[in-house]
Amino acid sequence: MNETNTGSITNFDYWKSAYAGRASNLSVSEVRALFAVVSRPEVVSLAGGMPDVSELPTEGLNKAFDSLVSTRRDLALQYGGGQGDAKLREQIVEIMALEGIQGSAEDLIVTTGSQHGLDLLADLFIDPGDVVLLESPSYVGAVGIFRHKEADMAHVHTDNDGLSPEALQQSITELKAQGKKVKLLYLVPTFANPSGVTIPTHRREEILKICESEGVLIVEDNPYGQLYFDEVPPDAMRSMSEQHVVYLGSFSKILSPGLRVGYVLAPPAIREKLTLANESSILSPAMFGQMLVSEYLTVNDWKKQITDYRDIYRQKRDAAIEAIDKHLPDIQTTRPRGGFFLWVTMPEGVDSKAMLPLAVSELVAYTPGTAFYGNGMGKNNLRVCFSHPSVERVSLGIQRLAGVINNQIDLLKTFDAE
Ligand code: PMP
Repeated sequence: MNETNTGSITNFDYWKSAYAGRASNLSVSEVRALFAVVSRPEVVSLAGGMPDVSELPTEGLNKAFDSLVSTRRDLALQYGGGQGDAKLREQIVEIMALEGIQGSAEDLIVTTGSQHGLDLLADLFIDPGDVVLLESPSYVGAVGIFRHKEADMAHVHTDNDGLSPEALQQSITELKAQGKKVKLLYLVPTFANPSGVTIPTHRREEILKICESEGVLIVEDNPYGQLYFDEVPPDAMRSMSEQHVVYLGSFSKILSPGLRVGYVLAPPAIREKLTLANESSILSPAMFGQMLVSEYLTVNDWKKQITDYRDIYRQKRDAAIEAIDKHLPDIQTTRPRGGFFLWVTMPEGVDSKAMLPLAVSELVAYTPGTAFYGNGMGKNNLRVCFSHPSVERVSLGIQRLAGVINNQIDLLKTFDAE
């Protein structure tokens, strides 16, 4: 018999039998489960992908806030249109131009973070069993959405230059031969989460050609493109095709994830459906957040702030790589040229999920590799996020992590020897 939710007795299974079937695909992610641990100040968290908002200029934020509240308060506190604030959309066109995109504000839909844009897209395209192609590894939040929509997730071979076009063609051919509907290719082509790798221009062109001829829509998710450390990355894939690429952008990494402002640049053919989906889901994206972003961009030198962020994150990347080279000289790791992440491959047999409690007891946290796959792969991988701790703590965190990894490797060798 079901218990009732009274007093201190809470039966969390009380409504379980009434849930929709797909609710079973919602489970606590590896990242979520870490949040409680990670907030302890003594733990160096190399886990959650958080920007270093402490580096944002207080004066600039105050200026934007004061100006918004004193001049357009009533608009900002009201409902808005389902497609998003018109002025902000014009400003987004300017930002996207930095990535080679000739977009139109007409084709933009502002969403509650780009995560919401991806959720709407998945809702629009995915019936249970439809195939979504993904990088190996892929963004944990995307894996979560596609799992919830009951998609069949197919990870495509990925190397230090990102997704392999040959492997993509092979996967599509095989999946179609099995009678599957291959609907979407989800990509983070620039400074990927979690690997940090970037797809060069020639591969972008090949991938696009394959998807055009196979009728697969590319979802290009690009929250990190502006955060490069050395040279400017290749132009966005959306700049190469209007009809076959949906582009997701976000203010979360260049400004603040707390404002929850992201956007979708949709092919004209799906723009209206996406706007309707946005309205159906949230009525209108939050006006206050949108207008605050818009005001911030108007009254501040936002390009300079992005340049500052590049310097800050470059220093943190350097600290991470330097510590890895020093303490884990034999380990395989990516060397990102932008973004927040690097991807560590440990010897077969080291289990990053099982290792996590040991790491936390050594006061360091990371995200286990299996979080970034829809199929259980990534056991001997882990993601390091270097964006949030200070430079010194990034070094300290890697040093602690190296101690734990080296112990595991030594243990493996002992087992092998026995
Ligand atoms: N895509 C990728 C690749 C990300 O790393 C993130 C944030 N971790 C998101 C989307 C979600 O961003 P937002 O805050 O705009 O929803």
